[in-house]
Amino acid sequence: MKTFAIGVVCVLLWSCGAQERSVPSPTPPTVSHLEFKEPRVPFSIVERATRIARAIAALRGWSNDLAITYEVANLPRVRQAIAADLFAQTSAETLEAQTSFLASFGWIPANFQTKDAILQAFSPEVLGLYCMTWHRVLLAASVPPAALDSVLRHELVHAFQDRNFHLSQRVRWAPNRGDAIAAVHALAEGEAVCVTRELEDPTHRGCRDTPTASEDRVFAADISRLPPVIQYGMLSPYADGIRFVSKLLRQGGWRRVDSAWRDGLNSTRELLGLPSQIPPDVRAPFAPPGFYDCKAEMMYVLGAQGLASVLYETGDPETARRFASVLQWDRAASWRCRQGCANAWHLRTEDSSGGAALSAALKTAIGIPRTTERASPGCGILGSGVWSLLHDLRDIVITSVRNCDLSESEFVEEYCELTVNWAGQLIRQPAD
Ligand SMILES: [Zn+2]
Repeated sequence: MKTFAIGVVCVLLWSCGAQERSVPSPTPPTVSHLEFKEPRVPFSIVERATRIARAIAALRGWSNDLAITYEVANLPRVRQAIAADLFAQTSAETLEAQTSFLASFGWIPANFQTKDAILQAFSPEVLGLYCMTWHRVLLAASVPPAALDSVLRHELVHAFQDRNFHLSQRVRWAPNRGDAIAAVHALAEGEAVCVTRELEDPTHRGCRDTPTASEDRVFAADISRLPPVIQYGMLSPYADGIRFVSKLLRQGGWRRVDSAWRDGLNSTRELLGLPSQIPPDVRAPFAPPGFYDCKAEMMYVLGAQGLASVLYETGDPETARRFASVLQWDRAASWRCRQGCANAWHLRTEDSSGGAALSAALKTAIGIPRTTERASPGCGILGSGVWSLLHDLRDIVITSVRNCDLSESEFVEEYCELTVNWAGQLIRQPAD
């Protein structure tokens, strides 16, 4: 399972381990399939999976009674499974709103087809997948025989997580739940990688000794054609998850990992070793004043991981995480109104020095300088829209208004002043 882009955008939830993708030298497909609705897999694979499930259950202290099926799958079938999970977890409208939000601040191209781009870029590298919707482990036909056990271990851990901790329910999209979903997703990937390592390591140390060794490999995955924000969103569940689970294992072994599942993981701040998100003391953003018939398409929390994904635009993962660690609270929203589409993101940092640093980093990440030469200074022009960023001590607000059709040919310059004023009103919102 996998989340994409900004915790906000908990979108693609599929199971595919970083280590599966990095296995070299795929061999030609040896099994033909997928004409079959009912999965047909060689008995030897089922036997192998049964043995591995027993080993996982013994290591983790779980009962070994998974009720799942197996399938050897070609690429179109893998994409079908990914899409099945994607639309079980979220909706086309949500995906569209997430794309709109990212495009409004220049983090993805205006015409970016998020779902198609990710499926195209990522699914050829997926060697295994636990499809939560079908309760089925899919093995890509291209899995090298030497990697088969590793792939089964990883995906079977996800199947156990689904049964033991209701994974598929906990990663289902809901307003303002994006950050919490991203955190659960990272825990799931981190555990799957670390259980696999421990079973493969003759000393059974797994992730306990090498907390960061995998990160370079994760971030070296070849998805470089995608915008940086999407790359970070696809890979950070593995990097953040492995680091987090590694820390839990050193603190208290697998029991500590069980506690993380049971006690609830509410934000990606916790993945960074920071206290859980403080309950909000400012209101969620409202739609632009003077805009009519506004429909809120999404209300969301990007959280530390989501913030890092947009800051990754201009730096390395470590720097992005360092900036993101000052974030204490955030709320974002997208609206479709009669006059155009609007997006707002309100961030509150732990202190004012963090606010100043983050404000500067966000300006760099948006990257389009604000004009001061036009009649309504203070906004930036980006494609078919305008944007504004306002910073006041601990608070930062960015706003955007643009044509909903994302046409590059015209922009709504007359909304420049409105965008600036709207940011000012949002940043001064009183507490509830
Ligand atoms: Zn996985």
